[in-house]
Amino acid sequence: MLLTDKQLYEEGIKNVLISEDDLRAAIADCGRQISEDYEGKPLLLLSILKGAFVFLSDLCREITIPCEIGFMAAKSYFEGTSSSGEVEITYDVIQDISRYHVIIVEDIVDTGRTLSKVYDMLLDRKPLSLKVVTLLDKPDRRVVDFDADVSLFTIPDRFVIGYGLDCGEYYRNLPYIAEYKQRGE
Ligand code: 5GP
Repeated sequence: MLLTDKQLYEEGIKNVLISEDDLRAAIADCGRQISEDYEGKPLLLLSILKGAFVFLSDLCREITIPCEIGFMAAKSYFEGTSSSGEVEITYDVIQDISRYHVIIVEDIVDTGRTLSKVYDMLLDRKPLSLKVVTLLDKPDRRVVDFDADVSLFTIPDRFVIGYGLDCGEYYRNLPYIAEYKQRGE
């Protein structure tokens, strides 16, 4: 669907869940902590496209030590609420991750299925260490036993948009996190 009608677009934004100020403060703290923890270590920030691109771009600018940036894209094939399924890597990181301390920078951990599979695949490549930092965590939706090492905000079971997160590819450019309003809601 092409959403060219501004009024329809705006109706999709129900309410702001996390403001720009709150995002900025939490990300600054996270960047400071990473800069302390990884000082003197080869660091790779690895983002899984596309949802985490805004978080990654703000987080990396709060990091004051040398680091590299990498990207991956993955497609998941799961049925219903089952946790078994396949994850296909559609774009792979170019760095040899065995040479780095790797932080996976994720937008949201929902059921946890995609990230737990990607995490295991990356672990097989024997990085110097592997951690997960997620902007958002929806623990009520989890179907696999997987938790990020750091999550900046825990949110209820609501579909959210903005700050990289989309609905039908729209809303990624909102500077805050909002709850999405379904048509007719
Ligand atoms: P899961 O943890 O279920 O395997 O998948 C996580 C992915 O689902 C996220 O990276 C994100 O792309 C998408 N997702 C999960 N919850 C939401 C949400 O509330 N809003 C949006 N826009 N995407 C979500």
